[in-house]
Amino acid sequence: AKQNAKSEPVFFSHEHERLIFANSALEQALRHADLEKEMRVEFQPVLDLGCGHTKGLEALARWSCPTLGRIRPDLFIKAAENIGMIGRLTEVLFRKAVNEARHWPGELTLSFNLSATSLTSEAPVMRLLSIADQLGFPTHRLIFEITESAVMNDFESAMEVLNLIRSAGAHVAIDDFGTGFSSLAYVHRLPIDILKIDRSFVRDLHANERSKNVLRSMLSLCENLNIACIVEGVETQEQFDLVCDLGGQLIQGYYYSKPLSSGDAHMVLQIEFDT
Ligand code: C2E
Ligand code: CA
Ligand code: CA
Ligand code: CA
Repeated sequence: AKQNAKSEPVFFSHEHERLIFANSALEQALRHADLEKEMRVEFQPVLDLGCGHTKGLEALARWSCPTLGRIRPDLFIKAAENIGMIGRLTEVLFRKAVNEARHWPGELTLSFNLSATSLTSEAPVMRLLSIADQLGFPTHRLIFEITESAVMNDFESAMEVLNLIRSAGAHVAIDDFGTGFSSLAYVHRLPIDILKIDRSFVRDLHANERSKNVLRSMLSLCENLNIACIVEGVETQEQFDLVCDLGGQLIQGYYYSKPLSSGDAHMVLQIEFDT
């Protein structure tokens, strides 16, 4: 560690500069982006083992920036929050997602990610609900995904927004469950319908008896609380078998399907539901 002491500050200041530069370039590009044209939504199916077919799909944002290329969604979402564009971006993404989902067969659900900012007041979600209404998409097929940290960020307001979502007939999922603080301590108090278990719990399932026990506990917690549970990040046959053995019912991950373009999602669903 001592050997590094000299070079570290240099490394960090370069890295820091690079990050600041990258961030401002990203924010700059986002400010000038044509959101309607450059933003897309992909859809990742969730498998319901109970009936053996797709239960619903999660919308995932994609941005191909003409100057910077493809940017990871967690990065441009954060940038949009920083520059006060998240409201507009979220509405563009949601409208695109619902416009696809309204053509899906049956009772398939649409899951949509909400960022922390969308939970600080009721207005953003009210606008999304009215967009769904305008487009004729039934609220009972809508699931809003929020992370634990977004809830803890402003607990009081978040609770109001979650209650608003549910009183409109839509559903709430806690995303990346198990990665935040004190999850188990408050989960029974939150107005939620679904827990999504973070993929880090699946990753070393094959090698580690403890992670099996942890996953098993989380699944039985959900069962006891009458909350649906989606296990995320299932990539391999081995993980899939283990999650099934542990009692997992809803599974999302590359093993079942990667995120699909809207066209591919439409095609896959048509075949699956034979409409
Ligand atoms: P998330 O909500 O946890 O979404 C799941 C992420 O895991 C997605 O990454 C998905 O492509 C990836 N994934 C799915 N299955 C597997 C698997 O089996 N293995 C592995 N390694 N990864 C898998 P993506 O699309 O890059 O999104 C990253 C994050 O960006 C999302 O994490 C979410 O927090 C955020 N995000 C994406 N779209 C939106 C959006 O429209 N609004 C907001 N607020 N956030 C979004
Ligand atoms: Ca999510
Ligand atoms: Ca997640
Ligand atoms: Ca996440």
